[in-house]
Amino acid sequence: MLIVMKADATETQVSGVVSVIQELRLKPHVMPGATRTAIGITGNQGAVDPSHFENLPGVAEAIRVSKPYKLITLDLRPDKTVVRVGDATIGSDELAIIAGPCAIESRAQAFAIAEAVRRSGARFFRGGAFKPRTSPYAFQGLGEEGLKLLAEIREMYGLKIVTEALDESGVDLVEKYGDVIQIGARNMQNFSLLRRAGRSSLPILLKRGLSATLDEWLLAAEYIMAEGNYQIILCERGIRTFAQHTRNTLDLAAIPAVRRLSHLPVIVDPSHGTGRNFMVTPLARAGVAVGADGLIVEVHDQPDHALSDGAQALTLDQYEQLVSEVRAIHEVIAPAAVV
Ligand code: PEP
Ligand code: MN
Repeated sequence: MLIVMKADATETQVSGVVSVIQELRLKPHVMPGATRTAIGITGNQGAVDPSHFENLPGVAEAIRVSKPYKLITLDLRPDKTVVRVGDATIGSDELAIIAGPCAIESRAQAFAIAEAVRRSGARFFRGGAFKPRTSPYAFQGLGEEGLKLLAEIREMYGLKIVTEALDESGVDLVEKYGDVIQIGARNMQNFSLLRRAGRSSLPILLKRGLSATLDEWLLAAEYIMAEGNYQIILCERGIRTFAQHTRNTLDLAAIPAVRRLSHLPVIVDPSHGTGRNFMVTPLARAGVAVGADGLIVEVHDQPDHALSDGAQALTLDQYEQLVSEVRAIHEVIAPAAVV
């Protein structure tokens, strides 16, 4: 059920609807918009009777939701969500650039890369402290020590920190040191982790699963929203296909597909999406051209010595070049990006 308030509905009228929803032991999700406020309802197993709401003051419409998602949808919120991290944004007119190494390896490595990221004008620094590696014998990240280095980078360069939580205890730690919690592709359907992320006050960067359909991905975001965290950034990072020339197949059609259904911002990861250094910049350009709200890119000061994902890391010079190219594209397509 979705309650659409009249354009001139007062806050008291909105609170009145919220109380009725709570009395029914359901959960209200108030979404103020540019022209009207909508209130999503979750927690119901069967259909909710619209007659509970239709005659309440300020209510324009009580609409039954037949789609599987109730909160990520444009029906609830026709305006795009802008995720705000301090004074930086994802989903606004500004192209968001998140850049940094796959993993935080050492102080020297992290600071050398952060300095270049800061210089490029990007607002976000990425770097894994907890790494989801295919092999248990591969470098697993520095753990909390890596998070502490990230917090120092935030302090020194003013960059917002995007870093992955592998499990629920990881969320507690990232909340302590970071600004945006990344949920990785392998964890996209880790439902207890999604629920925990939904109770966090930090925005969530939700990567698409290795073989997730659009619906599965959006429903994973729905898990987070249903708990009350509405600050979610979707990230297309490539899916498994039969292609052998790339690590993953970057599904750029997912960007306009998400746009048509959801108010959430969506960014592109051309690093995991290709797995190969020479493909990263061309696919980053394409991602921006197709209307992504931003990019997340892996950069390393010494890619040949990287402890993870070296093959897809850009050098600092290549990264600088990428930023100037994607900014130029963004300027040209920005007015058309709102499809
Ligand atoms: C990463 O960002 O380094 C990462 C592990 O990403 P993904 O979950 O998309 O593989
Ligand atoms: Mn990586």
